[in-house]
Amino acid sequence: MEKSVRIFAPATIANLSCGFDVLGCCLDTVGDEMVITLTDKYGVSISKIEGADLPKSPEKNVAGVAVNALLKYLGKNVGVDIEIYKKIKAGSGIGSSAASSAGAVWAVNYLLGNPLKNVELIPFAMEGERLASGNAHADNVAPSLLGGFTLVRSYDPLDVIALHSPDQLYATVIHPQIEIKTADSRSVIKQNVPLDKAITQWGNLGGLVAGLYSENYELIGRSLKDVIIEPLRSILIPAFDNVKENALKAGALGCGISGSGPSIFALSKGYDTA
Ligand code: ADP
Repeated sequence: MEKSVRIFAPATIANLSCGFDVLGCCLDTVGDEMVITLTDKYGVSISKIEGADLPKSPEKNVAGVAVNALLKYLGKNVGVDIEIYKKIKAGSGIGSSAASSAGAVWAVNYLLGNPLKNVELIPFAMEGERLASGNAHADNVAPSLLGGFTLVRSYDPLDVIALHSPDQLYATVIHPQIEIKTADSRSVIKQNVPLDKAITQWGNLGGLVAGLYSENYELIGRSLKDVIIEPLRSILIPAFDNVKENALKAGALGCGISGSGPSIFALSKGYDTA
């Protein structure tokens, strides 16, 4: 059995405009690297973190929390050492904490001979998200673990669906050099949604899912709209409206806030447009 594995832990775009807390997609060129090793010394340790100033204590690092939750469930008394090579800045809005949580549980499951399927690892990675933002959301860890686009159909019980990903779809992400904590960007959101806005939003969510399956890029573009969260959150991102307008002028299908921001994403048909 292998003792150590070096993995790529992908960044993700959550929400995708119309799918707050339920939609996400995985980026295949942006992400962290991690080295996970099974050791004889019982317990989880984080021996190295490069590229970011993050806690090494396994109780304070999302990777440690997620792995501990998994080991507890599996009833495994093994030692696990984690090295994290951060390329995704924490608080950037492209799932920095999710990459560490998802990557760590995936690697430990792999080294233990894959007792669980990728989809079954989601609840343990969500424990890392609970530490990072106080809320065990799955819209970043699900696409990080499953790849492509994912939909959290339900949180209780957890029901995550891997969606079809059209091959001509490319994402552009820009990261303004400001930090917005997920907890802060959650505090600007209203808890109640007027019915007319809800109708618009679920129409677009259905349209986006249909557009992904039928590879109808026009429909994807028409559906990438957010009338509930973006108007409130975009205020936290200087020049958001300007960036969005110019992305659409340049041919993007749609443009919005990635996760809780401040990163801004656009989806385009074809690499050249992106
Ligand atoms: P993001 O959306 O980019 O994941 P969050 O604000 O949700 O950003 O989460 C980042 C928070 O999680 C920071 O407070 C950071 O200190 C904490 N954290 C703990 N461990 C990690 C880790 N391994 N990688 C990234 N962030 C971590």
